[in-house]
Amino acid sequence: MKLFNCGDGGEHKDECSICLKEFENGVSIIELPCSHVFHTVCTLNWFAQVANCPLCRSLVHPLQYEQARMDTIYNSHY
Ligand SMILES: [Zn+2]
Ligand SMILES: [Zn+2]
Repeated sequence: MKLFNCGDGGEHKDECSICLKEFENGVSIIELPCSHVFHTVCTLNWFAQVANCPLCRSLVHPLQYEQARMDTIYNSHY
């Protein structure tokens, strides 16, 4: 699971399948191990209830999710 801001790589001009909105430049997004990408906020809300990717339903290990959550909390202090 990878945490980054949209616009860093430029290859994620897509939309979030959770809220169905496009990724805007600078917005915080997460890439799951299955390489699907969602807003960080949407992902955290989603995995508070479900342990599977909303798109392909592959299981995301709770530790990976927890790491991303900690990263998000850490990054939000900037
Ligand atoms: Zn979203
Ligand atoms: Zn997936």
